[in-house]
Amino acid sequence: MLVTLKENLLKAEEGNYAVGAFNVPTLESARAAMEAAEELQAPIILAHAEAHNNIMPIELIGPILIDMARKATVPVTVHLDHGSSITIIKKAIAIGFTSVMIDASHMSLQENVKRVKEVVKYAHQHNVSVEAELGVMTSSGIGGEETYAGNQDQSVDLYTDPIIAKEFVEKTKIDALAASFGTVHGIYSSVPQLDFERLKDIHENIKIPVVMHGGSGLSKKDYIRTINSGVRKINYYSYSAKAGAEAVKKYINLNTNLFYHDLTIVAKNAIKDDYKRAISIFTNKELVK
Ligand SMILES: [Zn+2]
Repeated sequence: MLVTLKENLLKAEEGNYAVGAFNVPTLESARAAMEAAEELQAPIILAHAEAHNNIMPIELIGPILIDMARKATVPVTVHLDHGSSITIIKKAIAIGFTSVMIDASHMSLQENVKRVKEVVKYAHQHNVSVEAELGVMTSSGIGGEETYAGNQDQSVDLYTDPIIAKEFVEKTKIDALAASFGTVHGIYSSVPQLDFERLKDIHENIKIPVVMHGGSGLSKKDYIRTINSGVRKINYYSYSAKAGAEAVKKYINLNTNLFYHDLTIVAKNAIKDDYKRAISIFTNKELVK
């Protein structure tokens, strides 16, 4: 069933788990995410990143994702990831997305608030949830979905300030906040060091779900700690995309009589296995208090 982000994360808050948000720029990854969620009977978020429009236009994949969500037996949110303007936000909402992210985190706080308020006003009128970002999330430069230049050793100054976060959420009335506390987009070149104290403070202050970007590639222990500290949406992409590519590479090396359609199935199954592993950690029953 198609649900808003707010509904999906409210249940996650009650159950102390996180919902996986998977960027699905190919039909293989979209099918992998849906099959994984159905097999585990877990809620998910199918996301389309504006940055992936060159791989898969939103006009093409959007209606497919909405259709998949409507037919699903589990709660599914169809979400726009890192929307840069009100134009793309309106386009996603017109297609039927039930959640949008407006990313104005690179702007001044004042401009960020202004831009987000405008999006919230429009989205809430259409019963669509809004995620916004505060603090700066950089990219490792390896397979990241964003174009921001940066590296993993980002300065703590770029992390989300818990006091400003409270003010930001009160002013904008967003439904979820993407916070920066040590994760980066893309493939990690060294073990990430997360600031759990900051994360806890942010969650206590804002009283709405926290979103973790750059959420693939962490240890099971770190996932559990972030969930217990208030993370309810985990953006998971790079490592699943890598798993798909590695499986295809292996298949090509082992087989001589190749057909492209077989490669799509090999990729889909590898991505699905990776998603299933992630979802089972995110919704681990051991976490429920
Ligand atoms: Zn992101």
